[in-house]
Amino acid sequence: MKKKTYSCSLCGKEKVVSPGEAVPECCRQPMTLKLDKCTRPFVAETARNEADDEPCDDGTDTSL
Ligand SMILES: [Zn+2]
Repeated sequence: MKKKTYSCSLCGKEKVVSPGEAVPECCRQPMTLKLDKCTRPFVAETARNEADDEPCDDGTDTSL
């Protein structure tokens, strides 16, 4: 089983949790799941039009 990495959208802190564990919280809000399949560079300041916890699909992004 692969562990999941979550990051905090406020402070940028990352936390790795085991599969099946609850979503960790940081800065009093649920952390955002990072998907390592997504190789698209993440630029926070230009990603405002996307949902902040939208999963990335590898190779299936048709928005480009
Ligand atoms: Zn935080």
